[in-house]
Amino acid sequence: MAGLPDDFVITRHDVPKPPEPSEEGQDLPPEVMRQLCAHLDLFEEMTCRELRVAVELMMDTGRRPEEICKLEFHCMNRDRQGKPVLVYTNWKEQRIRRELPVHEPTAQLIREQQERVRLLYPGRPQSQLALLPSSVMNQFGAKGIDSTHFSGVHREWVTALPEFRLDDGTIFDKEKIFPYAYRHSFAQRHSDAGVPIEVLSPLMDHDSYQSTRCYYRVKEVRLREAVDKVTAMQFDRHGQRVWGAVTTLLDAERVRLAIGSVQVPFGTCSEPSNVSAGGGACPLRFRCMGCDHYSTDVSHLPELAAYLDGLLRQRERLRSMTEADEWARAEATPSEEEISRVRRLIRRVTEEVDQLTDTERAEIHQAADMVRKTRQGFLGMPRVPQPLPDLRPERPA
Ligand code: SF4
Repeated sequence: MAGLPDDFVITRHDVPKPPEPSEEGQDLPPEVMRQLCAHLDLFEEMTCRELRVAVELMMDTGRRPEEICKLEFHCMNRDRQGKPVLVYTNWKEQRIRRELPVHEPTAQLIREQQERVRLLYPGRPQSQLALLPSSVMNQFGAKGIDSTHFSGVHREWVTALPEFRLDDGTIFDKEKIFPYAYRHSFAQRHSDAGVPIEVLSPLMDHDSYQSTRCYYRVKEVRLREAVDKVTAMQFDRHGQRVWGAVTTLLDAERVRLAIGSVQVPFGTCSEPSNVSAGGGACPLRFRCMGCDHYSTDVSHLPELAAYLDGLLRQRERLRSMTEADEWARAEATPSEEEISRVRRLIRRVTEEVDQLTDTERAEIHQAADMVRKTRQGFLGMPRVPQPLPDLRPERPA
């Protein structure tokens, strides 16, 4: 302390905040979430309704366990568009009345719980009630469940469940399933779905982008692996594998792909003038099935299937259309050649995927899902819409 003035003090605010337990990659895979959701009834049997609602709210909202356990009775509002928002307190940063948009099923869950609390504590002022009242020494319903107790019973529940098996056959370590992992999963799912950091950071109520950034680092690593997997299963327009039996791309190949090609409907284009124009200068008006610059990969299968459906529907519509000239209908009608080429390509890609082992197929489907979620930009052609991120795989967003 030598040399410091007499009025030097260290206050509580000078002490660095303990780091958020946000080590990278602690999110739960969708398969694990699915299995957990399937056993929520058991959790309620082992504990009580309040603890079940708590775990569901943690899954749905990504709030910290303490924030959920201490929710007030009136914890739901509507925004100006009439959409539900959760009102909670960020105890870690001491920020009160934070608002988080939630899905309608979550709002319904809260409404049902409010009704239950109303019946449990009739006559008590609602402003003094907890949404999830503790069953211990809580005569007036003002005390919420204890987050430490919640962690303990959550561990017992997870331990009592059967093994968690991932789609590739590996067993997921139960030690990695703890209440805070729902928060990591919520953040990672949004990051993977392409939600920008300036949206996700306030959504997580982080005080800086630094805490949010780890979810994007995880995404980058996973995306790179996923891109490698789907690109290794790339096909030319005739359905021939471009990379043969290659399983991982070299860095140079990856760079060449990045600078020498551009995303087009259902695949990739390497035609130089179109690449320089960012995909907006196709000399063939996107008749990719008849162009040697076109290639595709397994992640484009849904788009290819949707495109084929669209061609078939368009052909049927035009056949029955009487209010157009013959030449106009003929020009607008998709050619038989294109239809059969798309069919053949879909068949070839599907056959190659079918030849993989179950584990490889599960991996490639996962990789394709991830690549699809991050693919952006509407190219003026049919595409398959991506679902909004939701941690509960058993229900739509
Ligand atoms: S038709 Fe050929 S040049 Fe045009 S976008 Fe498709 S692949 Fe590229």
